[in-house]
Amino acid sequence: MARSLNRRQLLRSSGAALMAGAAASKAANPSGHPPTARILRGARSAPGPGVDYYQKLGVTPFINAAGTYTVLSASIMPDEVQAAMALAAQQPVNLNELLDAAGEYLAKRLRCEAALVTAGAAAALTLGTAACVTLGNQQAIVNIPTDMTGLKNEVIVQRAHRYEYDHGVRNAGVRFVEVETLEEYEQAFTERTVMAHYFNAAESGQISREDWVRVAHQHGVPCFNDAAADIPPISNLWHYTQMGFDLVAFSGGKGIRGPQCTGLLLGRKDLIAAAKLNNSPNSNTIGRGMKVGKEEIVGLVAAVDWLLSQDEAAMEREFRSRAERIAARLKDLPTVETKIFVPPVANHVPHLLITYDLSRIKLTGREVMERMRQGKPRIELNPATGGGPASAGLPGGSNTIVVGVWMMRPGEDQIVADRLYEVLRSAVI
Ligand SMILES: *Cc1c(COP(=O)(O)O)cnc(C)c1O
Repeated sequence: MARSLNRRQLLRSSGAALMAGAAASKAANPSGHPPTARILRGARSAPGPGVDYYQKLGVTPFINAAGTYTVLSASIMPDEVQAAMALAAQQPVNLNELLDAAGEYLAKRLRCEAALVTAGAAAALTLGTAACVTLGNQQAIVNIPTDMTGLKNEVIVQRAHRYEYDHGVRNAGVRFVEVETLEEYEQAFTERTVMAHYFNAAESGQISREDWVRVAHQHGVPCFNDAAADIPPISNLWHYTQMGFDLVAFSGGKGIRGPQCTGLLLGRKDLIAAAKLNNSPNSNTIGRGMKVGKEEIVGLVAAVDWLLSQDEAAMEREFRSRAERIAARLKDLPTVETKIFVPPVANHVPHLLITYDLSRIKLTGREVMERMRQGKPRIELNPATGGGPASAGLPGGSNTIVVGVWMMRPGEDQIVADRLYEVLRSAVI
């Protein structure tokens, strides 16, 4: 049963490729049912249904009640995106032509000067920084990051914006200069300053985005904003470039729901062109190990198209009603309280927070999380559950369960609700 469902899902997910094939074979197959197996006869034949390699490798997928966490493979690509990738996989193209065309298309749709598809937001950090360091200097592209002789190498950042993605910036050979106050910021610029970096979802920091951009530009220094996880709102895709940030990075596999190994680098034309020179497929560059294949390039473009066609208010309503349905299922459990919470910047969608009295329900959030993970089906709760390493803005605590509902597939909220009820109920004393 599980096997045939998987097969059907796979058939559905390579939709457009199969539809093209189905249309061609319609005359010979008047019932219209797509054949269940196909043989590749040439470059343009539709692929077969495929082997379930998760099953073959013994890796158990789960219901995502967490959100877009990298280690949990972040998001599932919509059918349209999967289908576009399946089609793109069937013919060779010139990668530079595809990158240029994708960049031009994305820049138009995202209302910025220029765009580059990168191998994730972290790669966008490296390439954007490398662009600032090597702008107009061909030899520097070869030299960084190990030979910074004669190159500007200081990136100004607020101390509160130092984060777990620092390495993406430092990979370009730079070092951070930390500031706290606006005054310190104004005085931090030297002839070695190459960039000013901003972490969009930082939970603290005294200097506003507007001041960050204004002061950097007074010194002729480009400004980078890492907004990797900050979709929705969809309008953030143009908000920060239009605010004046010279470079903005987004993750392709989080709220955009493109391939996980993609990202967007948006911004100034000259800097995006410089980032491209530092990127794969160019050899002997810092970005050569950050290759994005044709399928993923197309997938990200298709994901942006998909996202821009969505009704954002309807999505938010759907997430809210999932959270409400789970809350309703739990309401009879002693001491359980529920609340819908929307983190302010990153993961800016309704989450369900569940709290309870540990003297009445004898299981910590961490233990609940582990039981959900060990159950059938396997379910992953948000990592803030039980006070784990919280993502920006999400509260935790040993008696707190956090359910991220936005990456669930239709119907999964009910399964999560029933399992949560069962696990909590079993620990009531
Ligand atoms: C997720 C994230 C990244 C990395 O994004 P990838 O697309 O996985 O490379 C970088 N910065 C921030 C703030 C993030 O949340």
